[in-house]
Amino acid sequence: MCGIVGGYMGSGTLRKLLGRIQHRGFHSCGVVTDEGAWHAEGLVSNLPDFMGKEGLGHVRYVTNNDPRMIQPFVTDDCQMVFNGQVEDGDTARLFMALREGFRGLRDIRGAYSVIWRSADGRFFAARDPFGFRPLVYNSRRGIAASEPVADLDWQWEPVPPGCIVNLTTGQCRPFARPKPYPCFFEHVYFGHVSSYHDHMSVYNTRRELGFALAKREDIRNADMVVPVPNSGIAAAEAMAEYLNIPLRLGIVQNRQATRTFIAERGQTDKYTLTPHALYGRILVLDDSIVRGSTMRTLVPRLKRLCDEVHLRITCPPITHACRYGVNITGAGAHHIEGADSIRFMEPDDFVGCKACVTGEYPDCNASIEWVDPPTEWGDP
Ligand code: 5GP
Ligand code: MG
Repeated sequence: MCGIVGGYMGSGTLRKLLGRIQHRGFHSCGVVTDEGAWHAEGLVSNLPDFMGKEGLGHVRYVTNNDPRMIQPFVTDDCQMVFNGQVEDGDTARLFMALREGFRGLRDIRGAYSVIWRSADGRFFAARDPFGFRPLVYNSRRGIAASEPVADLDWQWEPVPPGCIVNLTTGQCRPFARPKPYPCFFEHVYFGHVSSYHDHMSVYNTRRELGFALAKREDIRNADMVVPVPNSGIAAAEAMAEYLNIPLRLGIVQNRQATRTFIAERGQTDKYTLTPHALYGRILVLDDSIVRGSTMRTLVPRLKRLCDEVHLRITCPPITHACRYGVNITGAGAHHIEGADSIRFMEPDDFVGCKACVTGEYPDCNASIEWVDPPTEWGDP
């Protein structure tokens, strides 16, 4: 998973927008402008001072350390930032294809949201025909970004699946017939809660998931709903409203608990429990269980303070690897030792790509209808 921004903005704006999509990647970051390229480990705030009137930026979230994946991709005359995963894992091929012109996209299969600066100095943004990963643009400013939360005071339009946006002119044109199949996990976890994907609010979607879990609740006299911060909070809020029981801050995220810190120190220092908030029979709400390490650490600690700990998860159990850009490698935890009960959402509760919970992958080779690229733009 990654976050990308690019287009006509000075270095200050580029840094600001990139910082606001930091939640999409903590591992490292990079920018390229008309003045040069800069990289840093970790947060955007670690980037050195940089200059420029236009550029591209990338925040990266991965566990492998393949140096070929350091972004932006840069050659003498062309630069690209990318979020997704193309088939054969060869992102360099996407970069080459874009340098050959818009038709090059016909040779690429898989998930790509991409922003690039062509050899003739124009900026473009494109999204694969399935629209797996999000991408939005502001036509007046000539800027594209992974999510509108990059600046919520601006107008953003989604780049429609199968379309290219010419950020230099603000025009949007199809290169393939859209087959919308956006990743459901973007709403469950990756998206910022204040953001929206394809005109759908992440906050409202998470609330709907909380309501759905509340309607299925069979624990009648729970004392409270306790969210696992931060991604469980919106759904927990709705669940508590529906069940008419308190929402309690029984689990608090430690401020110093950055991703790097957790990788080094383990899960135990990630959360502090609030003993004064917790008692009785609790519904603990989290957005997802991936490896299960969060819950395996939390449940025994919660059990020391509460009589019953019931886990409610707004995502189905993860059963398969993601081939489209999320670092989910397969069978996730379905069961947590010590929990009094556990309930997940069902795959049928979601639309879009949900291969990681069903194993049904879309066929990226079949059934794409290509559309002639916009000739009036010339080839980049
Ligand atoms: P687990 O501890 O089960 O491996 O991960 C679940 C927790 O990590 C949840 O609280 C969820 O919010 C968060 N999470 C969900 N998906 C991902 C992901 O792809 N990467 C990381 N680092 N955390 C995730
Ligand atoms: Mg979480």
